[in-house]
Amino acid sequence: MELLFLGTGAGVPAKERNVSSVALQLLDERGATWLFDCGEATQHQILHTAIRPRRIEHILITHLHGDHLFGLPGLLGSRSFQSGETPLTVFGPRGLRAFVETALAVSGTKLRYELNIAEIEEGVIFDDETFQVIAKRLDHGMPSYGFRVVEKDLPGPLLVDRLRALGVRPGPIYQQIKQGKTVVLEDGTVLDGREFVGPPQKGRIVTVLGDTRFCEAAIELARDADVVVHEATFAAAEQQLAHDYFHSTTIDAAEVARRARAKRLILTHISSRYQGAAALQLVAEARRVFPNTELAADFASFSIPRG
Ligand SMILES: [Zn+2]
Ligand SMILES: [Zn+2]
Repeated sequence: MELLFLGTGAGVPAKERNVSSVALQLLDERGATWLFDCGEATQHQILHTAIRPRRIEHILITHLHGDHLFGLPGLLGSRSFQSGETPLTVFGPRGLRAFVETALAVSGTKLRYELNIAEIEEGVIFDDETFQVIAKRLDHGMPSYGFRVVEKDLPGPLLVDRLRALGVRPGPIYQQIKQGKTVVLEDGTVLDGREFVGPPQKGRIVTVLGDTRFCEAAIELARDADVVVHEATFAAAEQQLAHDYFHSTTIDAAEVARRARAKRLILTHISSRYQGAAALQLVAEARRVFPNTELAADFASFSIPRG
């Protein structure tokens, strides 16, 4: 599991930072890539990475501002050209369907794969055997969502050595024991499966937030997360500006991570006014509130280990 940033700038593209997009690489977990936001030229950024568009399974759009959205039709079309044939679901606020369907229709773009468009409300927006995704509304002057991606706990490993010591040989019975069932051996011995399974491996939590002011919903989404991706459009000194434009400062982001007791914070959506040393100053500010803070850069990747 790895976060790979494709665009980390606010508002308009800059040479150093393209507009918003970040990929969550779930290759080991489900052979797939999930994309959060798709600013203009995201597909160009992808060309510099190992991401394969046909592997993109979900695209989650936090909100419909152009710097998070305008790259979507192009990427959807290219995925078809690049022999993407598996279904793709795009999640996002109301209005997403009209945007995507109009862009594809007027440009005569035909997709050779199944495209699902899910206009979301707050709550569980995706759930299967391995992952659940929860969405909540943030505070951004237009509907903007944050996403909490929760990996399901993995069952503990079968304690094979312990079974072998009792003379239980591998076979279908191992499967039953692994499921924690009580089994009866041929000689009448009763085994409680739960005693032969190690502790479950805790799933990871990754929170990716759209543009927002400091808000309670962000804290709830980030609760105990392994990683929180939070915008920090402005430095701490620009609190009033951040508030007026429905954005966050470095301190707002750090405060969310601290109150949520998250493990790690990554700042993104950085205004082009902060370059070089000024950008490093942003991290320094946030670290005073939440020490385990890092600054995203285009093409920076952060692996998310288990536990
Ligand atoms: Zn933005
Ligand atoms: Zn925005």
